[in-house]
Amino acid sequence: MERTKLNVDALVIGGGIAGMQSALDLADQGYQVALVEKDPSIGGKMIALSKVFPTLDCCSCITTPKMSAVAHHENIHMLTYAEVKSVNENGHGFAVQVIKKPRYVVEELCTGCRLCEFACPIDLTSAFDLDLGAHRVVRVPFSTAVPQYAVLDMENCILCGKCEKACPTDAIDFNQAPEELEINAKAILLATGFDTTPTDAKAEYGAGHLPNVVSAMVIERLLAPTGPYGHVLRPGDGKEPDSIAYVQCAGSRDQSLGVEYCSRVCCMYAVKQAMLLSGALPIADITVYYMDIRTFGKGYEQFYQNARAMGIEFVKGKVGKITEDEDGNPIVRVEILDEGSRIVERQHDLVVLSVGMIPHYDPQPLYDVPVAEDGFISIASPNLAPSVTGRPGVFVTGTASGPMDIVDSIVLAGAAATEAAAYLEAEEAHQEAVPVG
Ligand SMILES: Cc1cc2nc3c(=O)[nH]c(=O)nc-3n(C[C@H](O)[C@H](O)[C@H](O)COP(=O)(O)OP(=O)(O)OC[C@H]3O[C@@H](n4cnc5c(N)ncnc54)[C@H](O)[C@@H]3O)c2cc1C
Repeated sequence: MERTKLNVDALVIGGGIAGMQSALDLADQGYQVALVEKDPSIGGKMIALSKVFPTLDCCSCITTPKMSAVAHHENIHMLTYAEVKSVNENGHGFAVQVIKKPRYVVEELCTGCRLCEFACPIDLTSAFDLDLGAHRVVRVPFSTAVPQYAVLDMENCILCGKCEKACPTDAIDFNQAPEELEINAKAILLATGFDTTPTDAKAEYGAGHLPNVVSAMVIERLLAPTGPYGHVLRPGDGKEPDSIAYVQCAGSRDQSLGVEYCSRVCCMYAVKQAMLLSGALPIADITVYYMDIRTFGKGYEQFYQNARAMGIEFVKGKVGKITEDEDGNPIVRVEILDEGSRIVERQHDLVVLSVGMIPHYDPQPLYDVPVAEDGFISIASPNLAPSVTGRPGVFVTGTASGPMDIVDSIVLAGAAATEAAAYLEAEEAHQEAVPVG
């Protein structure tokens, strides 16, 4: 295995919005930064979203320039499709072993022309589109991916050689091996993000078996300009839904799931999606079943009031069960709490579960960083230094530290970069003060 060495001031793990922002903030101050992302493209969850609350800006339009800025910054060494294997202290900081997974495409030669993709005869379901769409075995990960290099899924490749013949730069390499890198970094920023609570977590909500009961992330892809169909169609039978229901707290504030906290973004993204669905499906009825609506950010309450004024129905109620009728239409059993308590059953065409946020990654084995009871990275002094972990030289940013929206992820990313810069300066002063010999 080839081994390359890289010396940097800071290593950022995770290329979502938080990791990208911290990397840019440090690089703009002149620090050398390595950014390691496990997926073939940076962008994290944000690049897959449709529009953002409360401005309704197109998500890919505002994320792509950040991704491009990271890729082109002279002080950032971006490593995609790469994973950290070990972290050891070396007296000057951390010696980090990173494995760059084989794309079976030589990055230096690939121009992102996609001719390999067009020649490939095999279709696979697309994880980026949450299995709603398909992609080829070899493909550029998605239209706005950064970097625009193709990646080949060797497990499903039939080695027909059509991509190799189609490639004008001879970039396909079926024999490519993993590459080992050693990164020496004085500080580490963890930006490993979040996962959504699984749609199949709750037996009462169909446990993922009801095709027309979907996660809110599915609606993000259906509404996105880069989405799989260009229309909002329900997955069960491809029908355009006329009646859509949101079930709030379908993965948060729920002891049975072990997720007792509020995920902070679900109320706002449900309001946003309801508004966007009203635009995409003007005759559809949209109902949001909620326990309470939390609109904590700037402009968020007005955003919610606008949704009410648009005719979206907000029903205070607790959904106990979701089943389906013989046509695959979900039936929601709900205890309505608005006008005294009563239990009703309502039929909808599509039900959206407002899933919550859970930690994506446990840093404990590699980084020896304390993790809180909820599984997110623990903060030593949350009120005064929200990006400082219990391990000197290791900082945390974005949703790796707990549920938050994009605005807060960006704010925390700036805070983490500032704390890391102060740490680097102090370390440098300390090294200079130590007498030689
Ligand atoms: C359905 C839905 C809709 C939403 N809509 C909005 C909205 O409209 N407005 C808003 O403000 N917020 C919204 N959010 C919240 C928003 O998605 C998050 O605030 C934001 O994406 C957090 O960014 P992040 O960088 O912390 O994490 P992520 O986006 O999860 O990025 C983490 C990155 O780290 C990488 N990574 C993880 N582990 C490793 C590892 N070990 N090594 C290398 N790389 C790793 C991942 O591959 C990923 O690229 C929504 C969330 C959901 C679920």
